[in-house]
Amino acid sequence: MECILLGSGGMMPMPYRLLTSLLLRHQGGLYMFDAGEGTQINLKKSGFGIKDLRVLAVSHLHGDHCLGVPGLLMMRAQVPDPGPLTVLGPPGIGRFIQQVHESLAFFINYPVTFVEWTEGGPQVAYEDPLVRILWAPLKHTTLCLGYRLEEHPRPGKFKPDRAEGLGVPPGPLWGKLQHGEHVTLDDGRTILPDQVLGPPRSGRKICYAVDTQPSKDLYRMCHDVDLAFLDGMFLPEHREEAVNKGHMTVDDAARVAARASAQRAVLVHISPRYTEEDVGKLADAARARFEKAEMGSDLQRFEIPYRD
Ligand SMILES: [Zn+2]
Ligand SMILES: [Zn+2]
Repeated sequence: MECILLGSGGMMPMPYRLLTSLLLRHQGGLYMFDAGEGTQINLKKSGFGIKDLRVLAVSHLHGDHCLGVPGLLMMRAQVPDPGPLTVLGPPGIGRFIQQVHESLAFFINYPVTFVEWTEGGPQVAYEDPLVRILWAPLKHTTLCLGYRLEEHPRPGKFKPDRAEGLGVPPGPLWGKLQHGEHVTLDDGRTILPDQVLGPPRSGRKICYAVDTQPSKDLYRMCHDVDLAFLDGMFLPEHREEAVNKGHMTVDDAARVAARASAQRAVLVHISPRYTEEDVGKLADAARARFEKAEMGSDLQRFEIPYRD
């Protein structure tokens, strides 16, 4: 599992920092969070391609998070048989895309399913054989969703001594048991995976939560994740503005990550006012609260290893 930040800025794309968008790759599947203007540029640079994009999760209907979606859908139609795409987002995301689609009459060669968040609706927005994506409303000036992507739990560690004790010969049968399948021995006995595996191990988890102030649901989305991508728009000295605009200062974001027991935090949606030279100040303020916090940068890559 790996991630690439396609952009790390907020409000408007700048020559030195594109708008915040995250792309996660896991076993050939791609999952994207937000697409503002210009996301296509760094997507091309990333070399990840677009054919395998399964999910495009939009946080909210502010232009810096969704104006790149129509262009991405057009770009994806350039490849043959790209397969279905699920678009997640707040109420209105489907109408927005459909209106642009109608107005421009652009070509799409794949099915698009829209899943819109509803009050009291399911907490799992999407699920496939590899991962599930949860969502929750955050605290911004409009309805903004935070996302949590969780890899499904893995089977427990294989215990060779137990397999041998049960008379399972080393070889392909061990492999089947390791992958959670039951096997039948020559003498007719059936061996279940539970008999030779330790307890299930949790999968890897990430959180993507931008354009928000600290909130209970933000902590929930962020709890115990391996990697948290969080709104870190302002320096502590610009706190009043952060509050008025529904954002966090970098120290707010770092504190949330630390309290939520995130393993590592990457702060994004950096205000366009801060030049590359200011990023050091932002990073220092974040690290003062949480030593595993850092400022994100465009095209930065993150490997997400298993903890055990
Ligand atoms: Zn924004
Ligand atoms: Zn916003």
